[in-house]
Amino acid sequence: MIGHQEVNLLTNYIAREGVAISFYLNTDGSERARSIWDIEAKDLVKKARKELDGLNIGRKSIEAADESLRRIQQFVSMENPAARYRSLAIFANSVENFYQIYWLPMPVKSNLVIDTNFYLRPLLAMLEEHYRIGVVLADSRHVRLFEVYMNEIIEHHDFALKAKPVRKPLLETFMKREKRLMQRKEEQTRFHLGSVAELLKSMSANRHLDKIIIGARKPLGDHLARLLHTRLRNNLIGVFEIDIHAKENEVLSKALAAERGFELDEERILLRKISVEVEKDGYAVKGIKKVVEATQEYNLQVLAVAEDFSQPGLVCTQCGMPHIEGAACVCCGGMLVQVSDAVYDLVEEAVRQGATVRHIRGENLIGSLENIAAIIKFKKGELVQLEETAETEI
Ligand SMILES: [Zn+2]
Repeated sequence: MIGHQEVNLLTNYIAREGVAISFYLNTDGSERARSIWDIEAKDLVKKARKELDGLNIGRKSIEAADESLRRIQQFVSMENPAARYRSLAIFANSVENFYQIYWLPMPVKSNLVIDTNFYLRPLLAMLEEHYRIGVVLADSRHVRLFEVYMNEIIEHHDFALKAKPVRKPLLETFMKREKRLMQRKEEQTRFHLGSVAELLKSMSANRHLDKIIIGARKPLGDHLARLLHTRLRNNLIGVFEIDIHAKENEVLSKALAAERGFELDEERILLRKISVEVEKDGYAVKGIKKVVEATQEYNLQVLAVAEDFSQPGLVCTQCGMPHIEGAACVCCGGMLVQVSDAVYDLVEEAVRQGATVRHIRGENLIGSLENIAAIIKFKKGELVQLEETAETEI
């Protein structure tokens, strides 16, 4: 599972020796048979070998890069990814013995880039769009903690419950046995759930969790939800029923279902908001042409795009800005090249500009918005109006 440390390492990496190779492969099984992406990987590696020959980096570096490419190709031909993965990213530099592999939950544009640092825009765009979720399984005596991120799960064993303080048997002698036992059981459960809430708080801070999901039998899950610290409770996105001893796979599938439910609600709210704004010519635009225009004007706040939407277009070779038509880049005057799908470039540019990106998976939800729409920061002419008002005031 990719964590903050790994991301920082990749972001700050500069190859002092050799070259940094970034390899992305679209392995989306639904439409692309294995043999297709196998061939695609071979082609990318072949092209990279040619590119290496043209670089002036010394024999040792070229040999090491060749070794990285060989390893990448071997990995691709050997692996059989789980169905929940839809693309692969490998970052490598053999001279410095650097080699990291990530299976990813969303499709990417297949690509191989050789440079002194890693090409991370597609990876960062994907990371931006996923929540790091803490999943807690509890019964009245036990607790298990998991982390779910980008469709992967790990169980944490390094967060431990506090020991229960020894309790004084004050009133016991005056109570009937049954009542006493009931009271003790309730006290124990309350203490246990309180400790679980504490534990979740420290895990949340330690692991930078965005959201929380609770797995427990009813009504214990709801009790635990009430005991969570306010910030954590606000980030609670689901409660499901499960046995405390459940297998990791079952925890993952239930957690992903809860996450999906939450995402669908979020999608509906976002798309309704966009529709309302588009209707009144307000702070939203729809359709690829207007969205690309808003991107070129650095005017994106939230980009919503149907997950399977693609559109041929043009991309600036200098600044990477996407275009639908034109002879030169409207932003920097750079040369434009044709790409079979400009939506990948649009998404990367949106993330680079700091906009939120939402890939919409719900069917029919985004059809009326022409498969792509955005909330914008300014309406046309709004900034000019502001300036005129300010000038009149002076
Ligand atoms: Zn440009």
